[in-house]
Amino acid sequence: MLLPMPELPEVETVRRQLAPLVVGHRISEAWGHASAKFASAPFAAGATVDRIDRRGKYLLLGLDDARELIVHLGMTGRLRMQPTGEPDPYVRAWWALDDGRVLELRDVRRFGRIAVVPAGEYDSLPTLAAQGPEPWDPALDDGGLWRRTRRSSARIKTQLLSQRPIAGVGNIYADEALWRSGVHPARRSITRAEAGRLLGELRAVLEQGIANGGTTLRDYRDVDGGAGRNQLELACYGRAGEPCARCGTELRRSVLDGRGGTHCPRCQPRR
Ligand SMILES: [Zn+2]
Repeated sequence: MLLPMPELPEVETVRRQLAPLVVGHRISEAWGHASAKFASAPFAAGATVDRIDRRGKYLLLGLDDARELIVHLGMTGRLRMQPTGEPDPYVRAWWALDDGRVLELRDVRRFGRIAVVPAGEYDSLPTLAAQGPEPWDPALDDGGLWRRTRRSSARIKTQLLSQRPIAGVGNIYADEALWRSGVHPARRSITRAEAGRLLGELRAVLEQGIANGGTTLRDYRDVDGGAGRNQLELACYGRAGEPCARCGTELRRSVLDGRGGTHCPRCQPRR
């Protein structure tokens, strides 16, 4: 079974915590594990971090030489600041800052990814390059999400997980938003009205996730090592076998295109 992966709210929580710690600092020295996923970390050495942005589940650290240091946390990746680089076999990359502090990427399962690229050039990161607009992008209003879902006949949940119609949504927030909007995850097309409702619920669950500092089911920790609180708010994800909070029907677990999930057979009719 795939472990839950940090989604937009978890990555945004990390971004907000990291920005005041890192922006304005020069990377004096850096190291990356020899595997291709992490080996480019040292290319950021010598540059100053001038901003931290986020696209979907990717952190984009803007460098002052018109490049970006891109970090994807994968499943178990965690960024943290260390006063000194203490030995830890799971640290896959580190960046020493000009004031002696060290930013570390610790990643037990090694599904994370690092790249240093000219700003905005994401050819080497196809998922980042192909992902849809941010959930709050005005381009999604007035039928925008609906039109984007009509480009594919894949199941609606699988489309969301692909990042193509909209960026940043993974298994947890997809299950929550589909349940709240009454859309069955296996549907291959949805109406314009349903897409409008789904967009509203996606925004709501992602905003709630950010406000709660993310969802910690197992591995996710923020920069300070703290757990998120959003797992306490989940109404559908991970609750198969429990009664639906809206109608009392037993929530059902299903596997769609290889990904497990939960839905309510009554509130989310298959049609
Ligand atoms: Zn229900």
